[in-house]
Amino acid sequence: MPETDRVPIPTLLRLACYYRALVEQEQRGARRLSSSEIAQLCGISATQVRKDFSFFGLGGKPGVGYDPAQLRGQIARVLKLDRPHQIVIVGAGRLGQALAAYGGFGAYNLQVSGVFDSDPAKIGKRIGGGLTIQDVKKLTPKTCPGKRCIGALTVPADQAQRAADTLFSVGIYRILNFTPAPIEAPAGAIVRTAAFTPEFAVLAFFDKETHYEHD
Ligand code: NAD
Repeated sequence: MPETDRVPIPTLLRLACYYRALVEQEQRGARRLSSSEIAQLCGISATQVRKDFSFFGLGGKPGVGYDPAQLRGQIARVLKLDRPHQIVIVGAGRLGQALAAYGGFGAYNLQVSGVFDSDPAKIGKRIGGGLTIQDVKKLTPKTCPGKRCIGALTVPADQAQRAADTLFSVGIYRILNFTPAPIEAPAGAIVRTAAFTPEFAVLAFFDKETHYEHD
């Protein structure tokens, strides 16, 4: 296995896509997959898939296809999904609660371990996923003692930096920011932004005012 500490983000995103495709194929009972099939599932060229597999030493013998479970295990080791990671959600509103209730994290070795909010009317309420909303003031370094925690920011934009600073202060330095606010992060922290509204905007652009048969 090559030195993987400095894997570029686009490569990690491709590996994550292979991983997701393999999870789904395994769930469908697939026993063997070719690199072309994986490429098609991820919308990536088969050449790129083979390059990635060869770079990370993934897969078995070329030409016989891949065992989805085995390949998924190998990719999990590269992505460090072979060990559990906790997700701590800050902002238990519509998006935060939907995330907490999502049932698909298990296949990624991810688990939502805490949901925090500042609204006294919400604190103590049971939500989907079997969790209880906790007071954000109770976020401490003990919330995630093993340091293997990822924060999810689902607060209003004007509270995003404050909530992020709380996460940094308790040692959570990996954050998925769902808010539109940019986050200033201390050295060594990593903040990624997830936004589906811009994706809808991209699709809106392709409006050709087409009238389909069922209109
Ligand atoms: P919401 O108003 O339903 O929930 C926000 C929650 O944050 C509330 O429960 C509120 O009490 C809590 N909160 C406020 N300040 C806090 C603080 N300092 N600490 C802890 N909790 C705090 O909002 P929503 O609809 O769930 O949206 C949440 C965020 O996600 C917004 O920033 C929104 O713009 C963003 N969003 C992003 C996308 C996307 O495509 N990425 C889509 C929808 C919403």
